[in-house]
Amino acid sequence: MECLFCGIASGSVPAKLISETPKSLAFLDIHPRALGHALVVPKGHYQNILELPTDLIGDFFRDVQLVTELISKTIQPDGFTIGINQNLVAGQEVDHLHVHIIPRFKGDNGGSVQGVVSNHPNDSLDEVMKKIKNLN
Ligand code: AMP
Ligand code: ZN
Repeated sequence: MECLFCGIASGSVPAKLISETPKSLAFLDIHPRALGHALVVPKGHYQNILELPTDLIGDFFRDVQLVTELISKTIQPDGFTIGINQNLVAGQEVDHLHVHIIPRFKGDNGGSVQGVVSNHPNDSLDEVMKKIKNLN
């Protein structure tokens, strides 16, 4: 079965398109969590940011910026939560890279990105640094 967002990119699945560039497109989330909730996707099928070719990253992130700017000017929210759910454990339901642009409004009772989990590590910051930087 064809990937849903590949279907939107090819035009075989309808969507409320906001903008389009040669390599990406933005459309309204079908189940908006807030007024103006949008998704930005690369037209090519890449499951996540690790798969997105390096030469596409700049333009892709620029498109995220442009859509945020457009929604900012038109919908005029008080802020945004902008993020990616990567892999099933993080809530990724559509296996085609997409950036959520979620307008935030005063009093909307939403949280912050780092508030999605409270899985506090036992390792000290120095121990984590050793792991990340592969130090002894
Ligand atoms: P995620 O959990 O990050 O994979 O989010 C997938 C998002 O895609 C959800 O917020 C859905 O509401 C949204 N979505 C699913 N199907 C469609 C569709 N046909 N058009 C627009 N958005 C969709
Ligand atoms: Zn796809």
